[in-house]
Amino acid sequence: MDERDAAMAVPPAPHAERVVYRFTRDLRLADHAGLAAAYAQGEVVPLFVLDPAMAQRMGRSPRRAAFLCSALAGLASEVERHGARLIVRRGAAGATLRQVARAAGARGVVWSCGYDRSERLSDDRVRGDLEEAGLRATLVHDAPVVSPDDLVTAREDRSEGFRAFAPFFEAWQRLLPTGRDPLSAGRLIDVGLQSEALPQPSEFGSAEAPPAGRATAHTRLIAFLDAAAPAYGIASRVPSENGTSRLSADLSFGTIAARTAVRETLRRIDDPFMLAEERSSLRAFLRSLALRDFFLHVAWHHPRTHDEPLQEKMREFAWARTHPALDAWRAGRTGFPLVDAGIRQLHATGWMHPRVRAVAASFLCFDLGVDWRLGRDEWDRYLTEDDPAIATGNWQWIAGIGADMAQFPRIYNPQRQRARIDPGGAYVRRYVSELAHVPVGTWDDRSASRQPQLALPLFGDAAYPRPVVDHEAAARAFIARYRAFSSSADARRASR
Ligand SMILES: Cc1cc2nc3c(=O)[nH]c(=O)nc-3n(C[C@H](O)[C@H](O)[C@H](O)COP(=O)(O)OP(=O)(O)OC[C@H]3O[C@@H](n4cnc5c(N)ncnc54)[C@H](O)[C@@H]3O)c2cc1C
Repeated sequence: MDERDAAMAVPPAPHAERVVYRFTRDLRLADHAGLAAAYAQGEVVPLFVLDPAMAQRMGRSPRRAAFLCSALAGLASEVERHGARLIVRRGAAGATLRQVARAAGARGVVWSCGYDRSERLSDDRVRGDLEEAGLRATLVHDAPVVSPDDLVTAREDRSEGFRAFAPFFEAWQRLLPTGRDPLSAGRLIDVGLQSEALPQPSEFGSAEAPPAGRATAHTRLIAFLDAAAPAYGIASRVPSENGTSRLSADLSFGTIAARTAVRETLRRIDDPFMLAEERSSLRAFLRSLALRDFFLHVAWHHPRTHDEPLQEKMREFAWARTHPALDAWRAGRTGFPLVDAGIRQLHATGWMHPRVRAVAASFLCFDLGVDWRLGRDEWDRYLTEDDPAIATGNWQWIAGIGADMAQFPRIYNPQRQRARIDPGGAYVRRYVSELAHVPVGTWDDRSASRQPQLALPLFGDAAYPRPVVDHEAAARAFIARYRAFSSSADARRASR
């Protein structure tokens, strides 16, 4: 036992069971499936462990680390308001949990599970450590709205889950929570164990922390639902507008439950005074929340997808590990204004508009033919969101090797997409300073939008690069390679 814990101040009440609740990416008290499971076991000792793997991950993206620090400070205050104290420890998760559980007189530890492969492996290891020490380990699905155990295909093997989004969405909607948050009643206690200081952004190379925590997240959700969500259907496709919720970091750190977002959305959808187009926008937002569950489920059922395509036949496809223009893509200097604006938005803010992500990711995979894993890991260094399973699912989706595989991947034309979703160039001008002076009318030049070659003199600026590839030629070459690989893979499978 750690010296700090030698004298346990508060023994359990007679006949009361006590458990430790280990917060991971669920940094709130409300609407909390993990805490509800802990409350069902007895009085709850709240704990956060910064283990080396998490510290290393936070060190990769200072913005993400700063968000975590801020969210943890918010959680600590929330716990205090409930008359308890959040214990913070640093160290290997298994050993730390064992130590705290023993010192607290707890029978076991409850936490909400991770979805990405490395999180699953870590959860299994920690569970083994605890059980070996005679402690009960309870893992709960808190992050998705619907548990992967409750949503499996009727026809396929139970462990498979869905591989296509449309049927998933249909089945998911039938299992949604209704009514008020049923999960939050229970007792947190302060057992008098010592705590280390909360981690600070400066430890991870960040100067300041953004406001984060349950109250901020809840305000953001409600403000979005009341103001922007009724127009989400259209506005979410326009990157220059604040048309999306910006809730992804909150959802990934669990400062708000996706269940809360779904419940609040459903309440508005059911409002009889809602106009039809507003209701359809709210449904589109619900669909986005379902996509989040979908990719968590895919990762849960297929842990290998962190490194391997979900589509078995694409496992041997030879993506390039480099390209002469790879550094230009990384830096947002491809000469394709929408791609560059997206990457620069990511660098400047820790977030990239969802529509632009699709175009910039498609550019890496198809125009440059570069491995999707490389793109995913590159963006991971800048994103505030902390959801590796969702990153993987989306990158595989874009690369045409994951869920919903079509006969050919969808290759976005970056010029056409720019004209379609940023017609006045407002988004590009905001992030690509070299193009800030290009007059608004110029951006609507249809020939320039359709043909990059014609666009050259238009966007040509001493400081702004020319397009690093010929998009049409690169896309054609990729499709030819993809088609050849795909039919030879089909032939190999047929001959087995
Ligand atoms: C190539 C690529 C990489 C991505 N990487 C990540 C990532 O690392 N982490 C991450 O959380 N999201 C990722 N996304 C999904 C999405 O772009 C982000 O969640 C985005 O930040 C959503 O912004 P928002 O909260 O304003 O979205 P909204 O449009 O307001 O959507 C509400 C919520 O729905 C969920 N959602 C929306 N779209 C998706 C989607 N395509 N997949 C899964 N969930 C979705 C998110 O939780 C989001 O916060 C990626 C998408 C693409 C195309």
